[in-house]
Amino acid sequence: MARMVGSIPPHGGQLINRTLRGELREAALERARSFPQVQLTPMAVSDLELIAVGALSPLTGFMTKADYDSVIDTMHMANGLAWSIPVTLPVADDVADGLREGQEIALLDGDHLMGIMTVEEKYLADKEREAREVYKTTDLAHPGVDRLYRYGNTLLGGEVFMVNGPKETEFPELRHEPAQTRRMFASRGWRRIVAFQTRNPIHRAHEYIQKVALEIVDGLFLHPLVGETKADDIPADVRIASYQAILRDYYPPDRVLLGVFPAAMRYAGPREAIFHAIARKNYGCTHFIVGRDHAGVGNYYGTYDAHYIFDEFQPGELGIQPLFFDYTFYCKKCEAVVSAKTCPHGKEDWVFLSGTQVRQMLERGEMLPEEFTRPEVSKVLMEGIRAKREEQEGK
Ligand SMILES: [Zn+2]
Repeated sequence: MARMVGSIPPHGGQLINRTLRGELREAALERARSFPQVQLTPMAVSDLELIAVGALSPLTGFMTKADYDSVIDTMHMANGLAWSIPVTLPVADDVADGLREGQEIALLDGDHLMGIMTVEEKYLADKEREAREVYKTTDLAHPGVDRLYRYGNTLLGGEVFMVNGPKETEFPELRHEPAQTRRMFASRGWRRIVAFQTRNPIHRAHEYIQKVALEIVDGLFLHPLVGETKADDIPADVRIASYQAILRDYYPPDRVLLGVFPAAMRYAGPREAIFHAIARKNYGCTHFIVGRDHAGVGNYYGTYDAHYIFDEFQPGELGIQPLFFDYTFYCKKCEAVVSAKTCPHGKEDWVFLSGTQVRQMLERGEMLPEEFTRPEVSKVLMEGIRAKREEQEGK
């Protein structure tokens, strides 16, 4: 594939496209009717889409055992390329028993055919080791570990093609694929682009970080994750609405692009920060914002572990430049949004609310402090909570 002048090369050098279209797709659909059917896990639905659009370049399918082992043990694939998280297709033992290596299978989400795959290898997951090394804990209270243990024991490795997008495609207008974002960045004349990953609504601290980062690059790619998250995270539609509520009035439109990242959250903290950075490189970004406790959950990771892990790679191995940020908040004495790095004052001067405090205030129908969250966003969040409650009450 020709490399666009001035753009960052994809991870591994080539932007992967495993989406079948036109006659090739028609032929695959026809053949798939006779294939054994395998159900995708929610995470595999996301991963299949990410692989197909090239977001996980150079992956062309779900990992075989050599890569699985190598990634767990060394944070590199068997060929030596940096990679921090196994991307696997787990199936139940009885499903696996009915399949043989070399066989073609149909990949389904419920009754929705999404892809086809050639089973190159089937092998057993080493869940205990995967949990310990990737998630840094074997505690089942960790949402990523819990999911790992709920999934089947056998992994199917092999190349995939996507024949249909996901069953429910949220935010189709924001679902820019890596080939598209690369074109969009180029057409805007952006050479240096910073990506912001988030699974949260936008508070003032996020806006501050995004704008500080934008000071040193040409464009900001806001890329909230919209795949599976844990039940108590704010739903994706509310989070996206929070962005849309303030983008028009507070961000320069010619320097910001909003897209959605169709990945599932793994909550693997530091290792997931690397994974998120590599994916954003594939979207064409040159810089990546890593906040405190990036992709973390509970107290499983140290506040800055997701910063330190970048030091475990050689310069140039990842290709994308991380930008590390500390705690950010409004300080009453500084009269500005600042960070623990730039403010000399103490906690008593800082406006900082925990996720639980935010939820409780919104549930009581209280606006969040303006220094913490813009009123436009408070309203969106309150509306989201009200809608969720009505849904639960079955109104
Ligand atoms: Zn201060």
